[in-house]
Amino acid sequence: MGEMVAAAPLPKIDSVTAPFWEATLRGELRMQACTSCGRLRFPPRPMCPNCQSLEHEWRLMSGRGTVWSFVVPHPPLLPAFMPLAPFNVVVVELDEDATLRMVGNLVASPDGPINEVDPATIEIGQPVRVVFQRVADDVALPRWIAVAS
Ligand SMILES: [Zn+2]
Repeated sequence: MGEMVAAAPLPKIDSVTAPFWEATLRGELRMQACTSCGRLRFPPRPMCPNCQSLEHEWRLMSGRGTVWSFVVPHPPLLPAFMPLAPFNVVVVELDEDATLRMVGNLVASPDGPINEVDPATIEIGQPVRVVFQRVADDVALPRWIAVAS
């Protein structure tokens, strides 16, 4: 765990999001699935946006997706990220449901720095898979690695 990673802001974990983060610690990507209408949703929230049910389960995802969009953030950046610029931020659409989109970084290895993939090599629609980087005792961040199409 590098100092830059440790200095980066950590996600807020509450009763709604805790099951998501407990899963990532196990190396699993899980999404809320409404047990009334079946709709998957992300980010985690108490109520189904489709049928307003509060009943849900945490369904295991394949961890496969495609790059839906990406950006190269420009200054001003958070101090923890300044030495790593330029780096990519990708939006990944999960294979299970095109409405499930996650923001993260495309990296070359699970624990690699966020600037190790040249943004010029990233393509919209390229297939990726999730990996997890342990950044705190209770946080493993989902990140993305390119896979052959
Ligand atoms: Zn529902």
